[in-house]
Amino acid sequence: KAHFDILIIGGGPIGISCAIEAQKAGLSYIIIEKGCLVNSLYNYPANMTFFSTSEKLEIGGVPFVSNNIKPTRAEALEYYRRVTDKFDLNLHLFELVESIQKLKGHYEVRTAKTSYTSDNIIISTGFYDLPNLMNIPGEDLPKVNHYYKDPHFYAKQKVLIVGANNSSVDAALETYRKGADVTMVIRNGQIGERVKYWVRPDIVNRIQEGSIKAYFNSNLSGIRQHEVDIESPEGTITIPNDFVLAMTGYQPDFSFLEKIGVNLSKDYLRLPEHNPETMETNLKGLYLAGVVCGGMNTHKWFIENSRDHGERIVGHIVKGESNR
Ligand code: FAD
Repeated sequence: KAHFDILIIGGGPIGISCAIEAQKAGLSYIIIEKGCLVNSLYNYPANMTFFSTSEKLEIGGVPFVSNNIKPTRAEALEYYRRVTDKFDLNLHLFELVESIQKLKGHYEVRTAKTSYTSDNIIISTGFYDLPNLMNIPGEDLPKVNHYYKDPHFYAKQKVLIVGANNSSVDAALETYRKGADVTMVIRNGQIGERVKYWVRPDIVNRIQEGSIKAYFNSNLSGIRQHEVDIESPEGTITIPNDFVLAMTGYQPDFSFLEKIGVNLSKDYLRLPEHNPETMETNLKGLYLAGVVCGGMNTHKWFIENSRDHGERIVGHIVKGESNR
């Protein structure tokens, strides 16, 4: 059975940055990724532009050159692939990690393909795999999607978009511009404050002029094959509908963390317990890195402010302070 100093779960930007740090420190490591390289980014909307400038997405000290100040998804895929190549990182793709068991002095990791042992584990599994469900009738119909990819598909269709943050707004503007009849259902009284500052006026103006219909202070309450119900301040409104894009956010895989034995806070945030300096969890030698650290607060950590997690973790491992 292959044994490593560090086994990294998740080949996103932060998992990759952890691997670079492990390599620099001369430790043996492996990244196990269940999908393709930077799987989450690969599954982002095809035409998406990052809110971060490219230098803030850099890892391993490798310059990220993009055509405009904010890079596109395609440029980010190219960048992280080139970084992985440059460092010749040891990684296995399309291999799901199913369980982690703490044994005496090390961990055993079982994947869909095989099993490994490792002295230390870094969990950098992100948050993009599990959508926040609305728990309403019809949510499981095939016309309902929690991931939006490309606008062309929705041309000449009646599209209902749930939410008012970046994902919803990008989807609303793109599909509207490809000829969809777009309605937004927004829980609060306004478009989200986190919406990219250069995009916000565009959506606000489209709503004001009536090109995109928006129901504020409203909730989607039911979905059927050809119509949807909206609970609005004026009462229940039923409108014809072809597709629903439920951009309601995503959450980390809490059951995966619980199964391993990571403590979660009892409140709504379900914060996985970890030392903010060393990133070590309540399990010695088992660390968290990247967006997974925030629990339900999935906006707390992003690439820019978590790309130093790998440095902290590897520093802690090298110092031998993990009291396992
Ligand atoms: P991820 O990139 O999500 O990587 C986690 C990886 O773990 C995935 O590849 C996943 O397939 C893998 N994985 C999960 N479970 C398992 C398992 N059991 N076994 C094996 N592999 C597993 N952040 C920014 O800093 N700037 C931005 O501009 C920005 N724009 C965004 C736009 C969108 C539309 C979204 C959704 C997010 C955006 N973010 C942005 C947030 C960004 O996604 C995260 O900051 C970043 O992806 C975090 O990296 P990560 O490595 O922690 O997680």
